[in-house]
Amino acid sequence: MKKILLVVGARPNFMKVAPVYKEFKKHPDKAEVRLCHTGQHYDVKMSDVFFQQLGIPEPDFYLGVGSASHAVQTANIMTEFEKVCLEMQPDVVLVAGDVNSTIACGLVAVKLHIKLGHIEAGLRSFDRTMPEEINRLLTDAISDYLFVTEKSGLENLKNEGVPDEKIIFTGNCMIDTLVNFLPKVEESDTSDRLGVKPGEYILLTFHRPANVDTAEFFVNLRDFVAKYGRNHKILFPIHPRTRANMKNFGAEIDDENLIMTEPLSYLDFLHVMRYAKVVVTDSGGVQEETTYLGVPCITVRDNTERPITVEVGTNILAGTDFRNVFAALDDLLAGNVKKGAIPDLWDGQAASRVVDGLLNR
Ligand code: UDP
Repeated sequence: MKKILLVVGARPNFMKVAPVYKEFKKHPDKAEVRLCHTGQHYDVKMSDVFFQQLGIPEPDFYLGVGSASHAVQTANIMTEFEKVCLEMQPDVVLVAGDVNSTIACGLVAVKLHIKLGHIEAGLRSFDRTMPEEINRLLTDAISDYLFVTEKSGLENLKNEGVPDEKIIFTGNCMIDTLVNFLPKVEESDTSDRLGVKPGEYILLTFHRPANVDTAEFFVNLRDFVAKYGRNHKILFPIHPRTRANMKNFGAEIDDENLIMTEPLSYLDFLHVMRYAKVVVTDSGGVQEETTYLGVPCITVRDNTERPITVEVGTNILAGTDFRNVFAALDDLLAGNVKKGAIPDLWDGQAASRVVDGLLNR
């Protein structure tokens, strides 16, 4: 019997960990699984709603760390997570993605000689100004089990000298959740409620510091809304960081064709992604979800750690210069829509491969 401790901390973790949690529960003879939530994201809209919708129980351990600078947040998570590990004595700690909770809990585990598994290992943007890239590099360097979502991850880990026996190509656990929830999403009335018509609106999400921490970004956003709002509704569920910065820069936009909402629940967001004409984003996960859904995606970043979404999927990496974003969107709206395919092993079965890799190796 292996004692497994799963860690979640922030919004993008919940969809990746939920299917793994459920899969472990199918093997009560082989695994005892517990869940720890660090509280990196803590409010109803960024955290609680996902527990309700994704069908994962209240966490066994809640660290309540909240927001702070990177150093303070990482340190607080480490201090609290060490107590959890000492109490539970897990055989394996499993972390996901690239948030501060990922590296903080990983570091605590390995220092206590607990095996560490990383869900979504091997992704690289090769941009070390991104806090997520540092979290990814360091977590992979200390992990014992590296669960990889796409082939670039296999190449990156090989290039970094990670031994083959640590690497398991599982596919994408976040897509397991999407596959599972898609039937419900198709039935929901989210677009009606939000006042948009399926297939006719542009969906925006932005939260990366490289964009939303600059005043220039909000000037570009205003131009974007002025240009595309003439012919399309623009739906913008706004991340707390982005909303705060918009206010601080005095850059609020008042336009009847811009529909700004609080962050949406998972089901609502999947619905509006599924029926968007195009999604314009700087999110990591949204690049992958749109690829699976076959919905056009324009990514407002200069790099992506998910190149399969560009090579195989519907993603266009436009860069952060909005002239290029406008050019890409104009082209798309003129009918030049990139046809995508679904990457290898994004088949709704990734979590079973993670669990198999952990329990049967
Ligand atoms: N998401 C959501 N509601 C929203 C925006 C995003 O449920 O209003 C989901 C989205 O479907 C994806 C995840 O949150 O599963 C992505 O999280 P985020 O963009 O915050 O993080 P990143 O993927 O960039 O690390």
